[in-house]
Amino acid sequence: MSQQIVIDSLSFAREGKALQGELPVSGLERLHDALAEIAGSVVFRLAGRMSRQDKPQLVLEVTGQVPVICQRCLGRLDYPLSIDSVLELIADEVDLSQDELEDDTRDFLVAQKELDVVALVEDEIILALPSAPRHDDCALPDSNTRGTKVSPFAALAALKKAT
Ligand SMILES: [Zn+2]
Repeated sequence: MSQQIVIDSLSFAREGKALQGELPVSGLERLHDALAEIAGSVVFRLAGRMSRQDKPQLVLEVTGQVPVICQRCLGRLDYPLSIDSVLELIADEVDLSQDELEDDTRDFLVAQKELDVVALVEDEIILALPSAPRHDDCALPDSNTRGTKVSPFAALAALKKAT
């Protein structure tokens, strides 16, 4: 299933346009390698605006859950997305000053006449996903592999033996 949404990024920002939609994960192919299952969908909202400094910006919000792979037990882990990015449109990457390049609080995007919105959403999700996701309470017992950690059961057994 092809899904393509194309905007003129500069006029989208200048005119304060907004659009939203739902994208099935099956269409976000660059994510697939990181997923436990190709399932579900994400919801995005893209809005254009001019900043207080009169710079054109795109505000992108993405929510949804993507089933990534827990790096400890290799099981499925539903990772909740909550992306809220502000991208400042620039004419060209070479226009950035050193200060701007080093400013982590600002994200820049080269303005395009035909910006592929789905690819942009995909990029932002890739940036948001953890590189080594793990369940908060991963059920895989790993006390054996850690060696030095004595399980409470072993301690109890030792106690029983002593009495
Ligand atoms: Zn796990």
